[in-house]
Amino acid sequence: MKPAPFAYARATTLAEVFDVLETHGDAARLLAGGQSLIAALNLRLASPSLLLDINGVAALRGVTFADGLLRIGALTRHAELGADPLVAQHAPLLAQAVPHIAHAAIRSRGSIGGSLALADPAAELPACALALEAVLVLASRGGERRVAAADFFPGLYQTALRGDEVLAAVEIPSRAGAACTLQELARRHGDYAIVGLAAQRLGQGVRLAWFGVGPTPLRTPRAEAAFAAGDVAGAQAALAGELDPPEDLHGPPALRLHLARVLLGRAAAALKGH
Ligand SMILES: Cc1cc2nc3c(=O)[nH]c(=O)nc-3n(C[C@H](O)[C@H](O)[C@H](O)COP(=O)(O)OP(=O)(O)OC[C@H]3O[C@@H](n4cnc5c(N)ncnc54)[C@H](O)[C@@H]3O)c2cc1C
Repeated sequence: MKPAPFAYARATTLAEVFDVLETHGDAARLLAGGQSLIAALNLRLASPSLLLDINGVAALRGVTFADGLLRIGALTRHAELGADPLVAQHAPLLAQAVPHIAHAAIRSRGSIGGSLALADPAAELPACALALEAVLVLASRGGERRVAAADFFPGLYQTALRGDEVLAAVEIPSRAGAACTLQELARRHGDYAIVGLAAQRLGQGVRLAWFGVGPTPLRTPRAEAAFAAGDVAGAQAALAGELDPPEDLHGPPALRLHLARVLLGRAAAALKGH
């Protein structure tokens, strides 16, 4: 299929982005890597009258580290995330996630900001943001506001972004030296996960963030407590009360629950000894 007709414009500054969002409202869509948006246009799942290309906005680029905080610009491509030495040192969970995202061509264009703004419940990076306790920096004409990843995904394909805001960056306190693992099961490597788990040790605790098992990425606090205490079987048992997976073409909820328990066992093995 072909998309409905739309106008196209390029922004080079955040001020230009804010102008367009204020003038056009919902009729405008931001174009980052285009790896989800262009498909949605072609399928006519979205039909904005204006596409604003933000790839030239320098303020949305770059990975920096200062005062214990890793800041990742929203336009950072998946491939850049996987290759960046600061990311590898301070948020290795993200680097582990990248090879699971789609295929090389998609990773070379798709961006972390696009993935978080899309909020696909089966995507790796939203769950990583949750496990890392990342903070999302949302910019508008009025300035920046910071939203914890835990508050950013209120529902299926929904985010805390207001219509006049752009996701500018992701901030993560350094997780250097803390063990982490990304586990997922997909029909083929590169497909969206049927079930996935981003696990991050933090101090004496652990953050277990799941994807593909509900309308949003989500954490399982009772399983986290058992897991942190070394009771992996208890953590696996707790999942029954904390996950409510959907039924779909992949199979019934019981299948996903079983797979989640399998992934938790694999995560325990991966984290052992760290
Ligand atoms: C075949 C295929 C397989 C894929 N498999 C996976 C997979 O296994 N795992 C996975 O996680 N993803 C997968 N993807 C999606 C891919 O990761 C996308 O790149 C990503 O979801 C969106 O990033 P993007 O930069 O391409 O965003 P775009 O497609 O450009 O935009 C997506 C949405 O986010 C909005 N947006 C983008 N940037 C911003 C911003 N800075 N602020 C506010 N809103 C913004 C856009 O307006 C749009 O609504 C796959 C895609 C394809 C085509």
